[in-house]
Amino acid sequence: MSYTGRFAPSPSGRLHYGSLICALGSYLVAKHFHGRILLRIEDLDFYRCKKEYTTQIIEELNSLGFEYDEPPYIQSEHTEVYEKAIKALLEKNKAFYCDCTRAKIKETPCTCYQRQQELDLSKPHSVRYRLDGIENIFDDFLQGKVKTTFNENTLVLKRADGMIAYNLACVVDDIRQGVTQVVRGSDLTDITPAQMCLYKDFKAKDVSYLHLPLVLEDEKHKLSKQNLAKPVLDLDTKENLLISALEFLGQDISRIYVNSGCKGILNKAIESFDIKRINSLPKLCPYL
Ligand code: GLU
Repeated sequence: MSYTGRFAPSPSGRLHYGSLICALGSYLVAKHFHGRILLRIEDLDFYRCKKEYTTQIIEELNSLGFEYDEPPYIQSEHTEVYEKAIKALLEKNKAFYCDCTRAKIKETPCTCYQRQQELDLSKPHSVRYRLDGIENIFDDFLQGKVKTTFNENTLVLKRADGMIAYNLACVVDDIRQGVTQVVRGSDLTDITPAQMCLYKDFKAKDVSYLHLPLVLEDEKHKLSKQNLAKPVLDLDTKENLLISALEFLGQDISRIYVNSGCKGILNKAIESFDIKRINSLPKLCPYL
């Protein structure tokens, strides 16, 4: 079977060290399996994402030597596709309208699907998805059986302010783009079974998942843009960053040299890549 992977950053800031790990991990696995690797910009969060970050992220990846097999796919240019997918789920009664506030949903599970006729759709409302038969365990390519703690009965697909939710867009696009394996950070393991339910309802073949080790900024917190992680390209030379990221992923770097340049380093890394060397436990960012 042919392999298609993807890297799907959200342009809510420049790339940070955690993004570099995901960019490199997804790239190496795809190239190792002689597959294709796509770049998808997940910019549907109109409060946090900015066009200038999209441009910067694309330039940064390019300058690090990553070569993608198609031009970047920008989610905000495809909103009609997500609307269509939501409509299809509504028609199948898998999705429903909801007028709960976020505060209310935090306290009590949403049951709006029982009162669809009473809802006043001229008032702000969201669209939610019923998570029927969700299992809180799945097979991860790297970690084996992973138990998750996500225990909600519904998932937002479109918020009352019109924003399409990440989970819907991610699954719709992984299907449309023919992605066969999702390689991403372990911060998304918990939501994976919910995404798998969506896959089933779209009658798509399951993809396989590989969750990479999280990059920590201290013993308890993952490195993230919300925690103001520094832009990775401000931390070191590009070649040193790639080598450090390879080490973070447990790879043998004994025959990888700074003076081969980024493309040279990536080519060597693809050649010697060994998935089994990745240790899935979270690790501190080496640039703290
Ligand atoms: N856009 C998500 C992020 O930057 C990644 C989504 C995914 O890989 O499924 O965290």
